[in-house]
Amino acid sequence: MKVYNVAILGTGFGGLCMALRLREQGENDFLLLEKASGVGGTWRDNTYPGAACDVKSHLYWLSFTERPEWTKTYCDQPEILHNIELLAEKSGLKPQIRFNTEVIDATWDESQLLWRIRTANNETVLARNFVPAWGQLNRPSFAGIAGRERFQGAQFHSAGWRHDVPLAGKRIACIGVGPSAAQFIPELARQAGHLTVFQRSPNYVVPRLDRPYTDDEQRIFHAVPATRDASRAAIFADHESWYDAMRLDTPKAAEFTAMARAQLESQVADPVLREKLWPTYPIGCKRIIIADDYYPALVRPNVTLETTAISGIEEQGIRTKDGTLHEFDVIVFGTGFETETLLGVSDIKGRGGKSLRETWKPVPEAYLGITVSGFPNLYVLYGPNTNLGHNSILNMIEAQVDYTVRALQAAKAHGVAALDVKPAVMAEFNRQLQKDLQGTSWAGSCTSWYKHADGRISNNWSGNVIDYRKATANFRIEEYDQLRQAETASA
Ligand code: NAP
Repeated sequence: MKVYNVAILGTGFGGLCMALRLREQGENDFLLLEKASGVGGTWRDNTYPGAACDVKSHLYWLSFTERPEWTKTYCDQPEILHNIELLAEKSGLKPQIRFNTEVIDATWDESQLLWRIRTANNETVLARNFVPAWGQLNRPSFAGIAGRERFQGAQFHSAGWRHDVPLAGKRIACIGVGPSAAQFIPELARQAGHLTVFQRSPNYVVPRLDRPYTDDEQRIFHAVPATRDASRAAIFADHESWYDAMRLDTPKAAEFTAMARAQLESQVADPVLREKLWPTYPIGCKRIIIADDYYPALVRPNVTLETTAISGIEEQGIRTKDGTLHEFDVIVFGTGFETETLLGVSDIKGRGGKSLRETWKPVPEAYLGITVSGFPNLYVLYGPNTNLGHNSILNMIEAQVDYTVRALQAAKAHGVAALDVKPAVMAEFNRQLQKDLQGTSWAGSCTSWYKHADGRISNNWSGNVIDYRKATANFRIEEYDQLRQAETASA
């Protein structure tokens, strides 16, 4: 049976980046497994109206591939997805993608030193190296609100938008006000007869100042591609400087807080509404929302901001804890994603049958967010502690992909069949990481998907992108147990 050198799970930015980098290195012995019928990952799944990226277009792309000709300063989801599809098409990767193939589990075969990856189609794929690239935000959460099944109207989650449900003139509820909801609330407000937004905690909102590129700009970007590179570099530097706003009590945090307050005061006149919309936790603790149209949507006459907690969902609508029943035709869940274990539906079993799902309870940990002790030749993309609050996640994915490529090269050069990060190396990395994270705003007084109930920050990286690039720049084989065929670990 065919044994691939690398099996990649997912064809979002992570999976495609991995495949393209492998190919650049002359490695063509890989297969991509994709549960859906198309590429694009999160940009394929999130089609809600208003979906867009809060990182500027010129930065939001893989650094080493041809740059798209973006039409706006901030790219919208359809344009991003279109460009990802073009990338997959033009790069000729498609024949190496097995679509409609959901991975249900992957097990490390200790005698053969390879991964046995089972799919929902009852196939087994064998690969020496396994690169899960399923992202951190792929399982919609309905926030455990009781009674959802009782509701007689239409209901859906932001990541499964029901474009067939008519919204015009309807009584619509939106639960949640996170970055996804902040993007679709203006669209719902435009269409709804009445929109009620259920807010549990407010967010900081800073200006976006999005606009289409002018014809002249587009002509210059097209004629002189170096101008697109220069724009990218400037945006990257600007975003890196935002990192200081992700640390508690810094001048940058004060600057961002003042910017958010000015935006609130200029867009919301009613002092009662203003105070409902003003957070009490430090800026950056939850993701900062970059939007110009969010507050204007909330002050429309057909929109109500409801801050009374929800007690449950009933046949006719949502009951709040004060006993009021709010009646609706449609409920939209902007309630985010299940992120606690970082795993998708599938489990991964490493040495001695050790389950990654169990290993990652209560808090997932990895070395550099990429390798996990006891799981040889497993390279996770966008794994634990690799999320950012200040810059494009694609920078982090590229660093992880490059580290993985170096690991594969090192294994080959040393004649090693498999590499397993040493437990002490991983433990020391995570001890230091949690210590470094203590000064960040994510450690502040808020709840967020970045951290576990016990306060450990499981999703975010402690530094900026340049720090992460430095941390992953060298693959040190001495940090790994080296496995050779027909023998157990040797140092
Ligand atoms: P999210 O940030 O987890 O927000 C979920 C929202 O639902 C929060 O407002 C939360 O309130 C609320 N909620 C949960 N349970 C609730 C309940 N029982 N009652 C009332 N409200 C409830 O999810 P998201 O907006 O989908 O965003 C997730 C992540 O996706 C973002 O952090 C970001 O990384 C990514 N994203 C990125 C972009 C982009 O432009 N790049 C766009 C969209 C999303 P609490 O705050 O009180 O928990």
